[in-house]
Amino acid sequence: MANKTLAIIKPDAVKDNYIGEIISMITKAGFNIKAMKMIHLTKAQAQKFYEVHKERPFYNDLIDYMTSGPCIPIALEKENAVEDYRKLIGATDPTQAEEGTIRKLYARNKQFNAVHGSDSDENALREIAFFFSEKELLENYYD
Ligand code: GDP
Ligand code: MG
Repeated sequence: MANKTLAIIKPDAVKDNYIGEIISMITKAGFNIKAMKMIHLTKAQAQKFYEVHKERPFYNDLIDYMTSGPCIPIALEKENAVEDYRKLIGATDPTQAEEGTIRKLYARNKQFNAVHGSDSDENALREIAFFFSEKELLENYYD
């Protein structure tokens, strides 16, 4: 049974020209791309997406970061998608991330950490719906 997760190539990684490398790592790891776009988030959109973090001390910095340039949300599908994708990206702080993970290779630091990954199946569906309509999700393409 295929599960979904939301990846985002964040503004630092777009600016650092790692789009191709990151997408290549994702597809080589067996994920199917269900939908993808490039979007420059408004402040209101970023605040809404990261609402769960609004009490955290880094919230305002996170909003500034995520609105600093375009990012690339990607809806992914794979068995065990949430866990497998988080394994592929590594720990939030790249100094703690395992060798060969996306964050170890391409993140600048704990804030500018190259990619987002959903943390549960429930949040994955919410986050995917935030960026993509039903029509954009190519539901039957890989069947
Ligand atoms: P993730 O699930 O691994 O992305 O980490 P979190 O959900 O805990 O945090 C969301 C995002 O906020 C991270 O990916 C970072 O971009 C940023 N962030 C997390 N922790 C910190 C921190 O301690 N300081 C700063 N400046 N940013 C942070
Ligand atoms: Mg998180």
